[in-house]
Amino acid sequence: MKLQELKNIDIASKRVFIRCDFNVPMDADNNITDDRRIRSALSTIRYCIDNDCSIILASHFGRPKNGFEEGFSLKPIAKRLHTLLKQEIKMAPSIIGEKTIEMAKNLQSGEILLLENMRFEAGETKNDPELSKKLASMADVFVNDAFGVSHRAHASVEGIAQHFDIKSKAAGFLLAKEIKFFHHIVHNPTRPFVSIVGGSKISGKLEALYNLVPKVDKIIIGGGMAFTFLKALGHEVGKSLVEDDLIPEALKIMAEAKKLGVKLYLPVDVIVAEAFNEEAIAKLVTVQEMPSEWMGLDIGNATAQLFSLALRDANTILWNGPMGVYEMDKFAKGSTKISHAVASSFATTVVGGGDTADLVRVTGDEDEMTFISTGGGASLELIEGKVLPGVKALLVEED
Ligand code: AMP
Repeated sequence: MKLQELKNIDIASKRVFIRCDFNVPMDADNNITDDRRIRSALSTIRYCIDNDCSIILASHFGRPKNGFEEGFSLKPIAKRLHTLLKQEIKMAPSIIGEKTIEMAKNLQSGEILLLENMRFEAGETKNDPELSKKLASMADVFVNDAFGVSHRAHASVEGIAQHFDIKSKAAGFLLAKEIKFFHHIVHNPTRPFVSIVGGSKISGKLEALYNLVPKVDKIIIGGGMAFTFLKALGHEVGKSLVEDDLIPEALKIMAEAKKLGVKLYLPVDVIVAEAFNEEAIAKLVTVQEMPSEWMGLDIGNATAQLFSLALRDANTILWNGPMGVYEMDKFAKGSTKISHAVASSFATTVVGGGDTADLVRVTGDEDEMTFISTGGGASLELIEGKVLPGVKALLVEED
């Protein structure tokens, strides 16, 4: 099976429905603070414009609860698209309302209509067949370019695809690029392959850890999840984030790594604080000397050096999850050092997960990374070896 790609189907002069991921961060005044997700969608949109298509764009944004809410409207997205594409973007008043359907029907070649936030329709997240059918009826071709939600079976992602035959649906350029990168890195990495896993909890990344251990040469564990491993090894971890029920899993992962000859790295020193805030008193201690009333919120200097040394001979690096509470400057040093170490390596570097992508932007290392994934949950599911529902609908039998 291979992914049906946009350039392999005939879209000339057709009405194309593109599911994008415009779920961008906005501040309290509805200003877009990072438009990377919008810019990432432009190549697919431009390709459709160049093929004289009339274009219907759809996306979700945030988590509105009860139908239309002005604060979750896609109007600011329409404005930014207008600025980036330098052409008018027609803003639909709804998703499948009468006026919207009429606007979609009257679209001329090269024109763009942006539907309202998909999640204003309760049927979107329930993959409601009626909603999928109505959305599909607006277009001749369906393109999924929303990697960030392709692990969800939602009406505008999965359900809609069922209404198009394989010659009338495809993955957009962004989705195809994401899938190819992760497929290559998980199945055919240039070795040594080193994976850095961090973030808050093991529970969210357990499957990914199990799937990575047999594939990598080294695995580096930092962030909050390291404390469950350290506790499993008998260390005092004080009030650090620990998932006691997962201690047996942590032991299993370490045993599996040992059996397979995979080198597993854990912090050797940590920054501990008296409380979870930036004003709290903090100090550097070895993992053998963590005070019982303190919590570990970042990796220490020796750990950053150890991890950087372990990365030195890597030819492929996959990084998901920060090394500490990077949102607070006081506990961001470890993550920053690892970001610089990854950026200055000669490896193919793939960064996945919203937090880690955010982090490398703040550290100024964004341009040095080979690939930064736009989807956190979706990239984790690919590492877990799953076929994403939004992608499954776009697979073609190979001849
Ligand atoms: P995740 O979504 O699992 O990748 O976790 C990202 C979050 O993990 C970030 O918000 C970090 O602040 C948090 N995090 C990283 N290290 C720690 C730590 N030592 N203690 C608590 N939270 C942490």
